[in-house]
Amino acid sequence: MAAGRVVVVKEYGKPFAIEEYPVPDPEPGAILLRITQAGICGSDLHTWRGEAYAPIPPNGRVMGHEGTGVIAKLGGGVTTDSLGRPIREGDRLMYAAIAPCNRCYQCINGNQNWCSGAQPARQAGEFPYFTGTYADYYYIPPGRPAFRVPDELPDDVLGFVNCATGTVTEGLLRAGAKEGDYVVVQGAGGLGLNATAMAKDMGAHKVIVLDRLKQRLALAREFGADHTIDITEYPTREERRERIWDLTEGRGADIVLELVGRPELLVEGLDYLANGGTFVEIGNIVRHATVELDPSVLISGAKRILGSRMYRPSLLPMMMERMVKNRETVPYHKIVSNRYPLASVNDAFAEAEWHERQTAVSRGMLVP
Ligand SMILES: [Zn+2]
Ligand SMILES: [Zn+2]
Repeated sequence: MAAGRVVVVKEYGKPFAIEEYPVPDPEPGAILLRITQAGICGSDLHTWRGEAYAPIPPNGRVMGHEGTGVIAKLGGGVTTDSLGRPIREGDRLMYAAIAPCNRCYQCINGNQNWCSGAQPARQAGEFPYFTGTYADYYYIPPGRPAFRVPDELPDDVLGFVNCATGTVTEGLLRAGAKEGDYVVVQGAGGLGLNATAMAKDMGAHKVIVLDRLKQRLALAREFGADHTIDITEYPTREERRERIWDLTEGRGADIVLELVGRPELLVEGLDYLANGGTFVEIGNIVRHATVELDPSVLISGAKRILGSRMYRPSLLPMMMERMVKNRETVPYHKIVSNRYPLASVNDAFAEAEWHERQTAVSRGMLVP
């Protein structure tokens, strides 16, 4: 039987193991993908450091959640994608990088990204073995939404769609993004660049992006940012707020997206909001981080704080169609700054690590 490689974390913060497992035959309703792109997301770095998840299962935890591939084998009865379009072996497929149980209240209410059912442990060595994207294959279980990829999109813009693009799109939609909005984006990494392009596409009048790295801010402008703020040039919270006030005609932002993962940015971001504005929390996934907040600012400014998690799978085809539409003007291919073969996963993580220092990597991609 053929075998494939799987990247496994055995001990947090230590180099990964690359293990080999038998390539499974998909059960009825399932699909086996051969991975072509697997993104290194901020949350994978948190996982690796042991900040985001519970103890590692005894055999280790399979790594990687975002990515894409081509159909290696279809399980019995699978002839179409989730929109009813015919699919065959060799077709490219974008799957929803969430694990909905399809039985809990949230799932049946249409919010599979808020599923409250049991989530798979993704223990190494357990059937179907290929439960993460840092691998040669990925197993899409029955009932998991998946969609054909438009021919116009090259492989190198697909690896982040089912995490970064989806998550910021869901956040913008939940915040009620609309024509004419002022949108502030905290952080110009993979999430921030996607958020900038999507906010502009949704009709934002101005998108203002903050970061501390000049090359990231230059990229943000290429993705449609109307203004960028280099926080090393505006080192205090007061100076940044004043700059945002100037850029929003003294009104403040309608939406602020936190995409960095620093708790203090919540308090700072609330300060950027116009009355009635919405702060969207996406970056702070590390548990037990705390921040001091004066709740009266929510009342005096009629502000909302909204947490957003992943995305409804039904957004995937719309997002890919928008990328097709915008591909001449938005350089999606520049989101991925570094590519690594699967065997170099440990180098890829070392280079993407931004915990103690600033890294130039905007998003690393494993290309098995
Ligand atoms: Zn991710
Ligand atoms: Zn569920």
